[in-house]
Amino acid sequence: MGINKQQLTDIQTIGIRWFELDEYDLNRKGGAGPTDHKAFNFKDQTSMVPIFNEQVQQSNYSATYSDDKKNVLIYENDILIDKATIPAQPNFYQLSTADGIPYSKIATLHSKDVLATTVFQKCVRYGNKNTSCQFCAIEESLKNETTIAHKTPEQLAEVAKAAVELDGISQMIMTTGTPNLKDRGAKMLLESAKAVKAAVDIPLQVQCEPPNEDFWFQALKDAGVDAIGMHLEAVSQRVREDIMPGKASVPMSRYISAYKAAVQVFGKGNVSTYILAGLGDTEEEIITVSKELIDLGVYPFVVPFTPVAGTPLANHPMPDPSMLKRIFSTLGPLLKEKIMTSNDLKAGCAKCGACSSMKSYE
Ligand code: SF4
Repeated sequence: MGINKQQLTDIQTIGIRWFELDEYDLNRKGGAGPTDHKAFNFKDQTSMVPIFNEQVQQSNYSATYSDDKKNVLIYENDILIDKATIPAQPNFYQLSTADGIPYSKIATLHSKDVLATTVFQKCVRYGNKNTSCQFCAIEESLKNETTIAHKTPEQLAEVAKAAVELDGISQMIMTTGTPNLKDRGAKMLLESAKAVKAAVDIPLQVQCEPPNEDFWFQALKDAGVDAIGMHLEAVSQRVREDIMPGKASVPMSRYISAYKAAVQVFGKGNVSTYILAGLGDTEEEIITVSKELIDLGVYPFVVPFTPVAGTPLANHPMPDPSMLKRIFSTLGPLLKEKIMTSNDLKAGCAKCGACSSMKSYE
């Protein structure tokens, strides 16, 4: 018994039905990027699985606690296929800053050993349907008061140090909403990286839109950043303009020039991009662009799109798992051939690998 990579792709794409959810706070609800997931520990991999979306009710996978509540039993068509566990709540969640802000509002545990934060929980593109990304819920967790708008470098350093010391965190990821249309968050990330690296030695990835000038990449590296993600989300101009009209105003040509400049600084694989499969790009478009990116030294982290409650795409259909399997089966061996597998990377979502089963195809 044990889940195989095809079943993992299935459950990360169409989710698991689970009726016994508690108020356990390791669920990813709201926030930047893919969300509304729950973390499951399978034998050698922690994976984020959609469980909150209504479409999940159509899934042929389901879960229930074992009698002693120590395991979660996973069923496919009512046949038991695996036992998983749920990552424990980290110790650093018990702490607060001197001025009373819970550490969990400053950074959160992703997967089982990744510290993640959204440095700036707002975005110049959010709140206006002519510019916002339709899949994004970045400011929702702010409204729910589960986070704070701007995490200072000092706060991030304090939490990172505690998370490493108390919970053995293996890497940190700092993303940001886009605060302005010039450096697009690079300056804020740089200041945060400096403070974190002065406090604790931990591999660090930052994520932002391509800044307007390439000098930022070396400046980020000098501040201690190990890897950078600049996320396309959609690869065709058609889908970019349709789903994320604001971000689409930064042309693909700028993404490509930024990737080339960043690979010079961070090395191949330590520059990456998120691609959300299911927004409307065809399988061929995703494979073609991903191959071009791999040739440039950029890791295309392809993730199944999960509709998020409260966003304009809340009722958008989830993708077909077979499309993801074909994409992964094509890209996985290529990444291995180029020595750009998840294990080769220093930090980042592609290294964590919890939001996509892609690395099991490498
Ligand atoms: S892949 Fe990225 S977003 Fe997903 S759990 Fe890991 S760090 Fe978080």
